[in-house]
Amino acid sequence: MDRVLGIDIGGTSIKVGLFTPEGELLEERKIPTPALTTDDAYAVVTSGITRILIAHDSTPADVIACGLDIPGPVAEDGTVGFLPNIELDPEGLVGAITATFPRATVAFVNDANAAALGEMWAGSARGVQSFVLIALGTGVGAGVVVGGRLIAGAFGAGGEVGHITVERDEPLTCGCGRHGCLEQYASAKGVVRLYLEECEHRGVKPVDVEHATDTLSVFQALSSGDECAAIAIDKMCDYLALAMSQISCIVDPGMYLIGGGVAGGFSTFAPKLRERFQELALSPCRDVKIEAAGLGNQAAMYGCAYEALRLRAEQQ
Ligand SMILES: [Zn+2]
Repeated sequence: MDRVLGIDIGGTSIKVGLFTPEGELLEERKIPTPALTTDDAYAVVTSGITRILIAHDSTPADVIACGLDIPGPVAEDGTVGFLPNIELDPEGLVGAITATFPRATVAFVNDANAAALGEMWAGSARGVQSFVLIALGTGVGAGVVVGGRLIAGAFGAGGEVGHITVERDEPLTCGCGRHGCLEQYASAKGVVRLYLEECEHRGVKPVDVEHATDTLSVFQALSSGDECAAIAIDKMCDYLALAMSQISCIVDPGMYLIGGGVAGGFSTFAPKLRERFQELALSPCRDVKIEAAGLGNQAAMYGCAYEALRLRAEQQ
């Protein structure tokens, strides 16, 4: 029985999804791991996966494709770029995987790109050939799919939608070193900052915000009639719609999917986002669908498995 693996690589653990080649998720399991830079650490990964396979009457030889989803850039040729947030030796890990699962085609995929592919394989974008998934999380990432293929880019920066400039006069510096990037307003951190700034501007006491990315409290404040929260979310929608209207001029997608932690408030801000997009977009693109992503935090696991399968088909 052919099996496919989708592996989410995080800082202190990995999340393994065991799939059929048709996209059915058989099991999802978290495996705590040390930094993925030594043979011992790779052995934790491969033996953990082998146990999952055995529990499903499968063996390592059944694995035909293995996708690895990482929080960093991956160029079109599959080369992994600099990874600031995790410790990983990509070549070492691939070596250990191919030694344990000899039939497997291995592919690295950037996390936002993987999420987009996952939505296309088994989520909200099934059957849609051109769409953009925008993940509003700690940062703002995106996966741009055109004609069923991801735009990875020559330098691995294709789909870096979070760094589209939406405010040239922003004095604060973005993590990328530039100013006024979408991420500064539409990430979880950005939404909380917009809210606290509005409260300060009006001399109003804000609701308790537990941490710098606590958008839940901002959305709760909004639903209980907090005007500063309403203005913060309006601004977020305005900047996001502006960026989306520009994306539409380049790739003209048939659908936008909004994912990531901030999308927890999607039903609250969707009407405003759609309204602003209609006002800002080029006329032929105005009626694009804007929906919530469907697979939540499983999307990337699905997507990297899908990409490894696709690469395998391409190589055969
Ligand atoms: Zn930036």
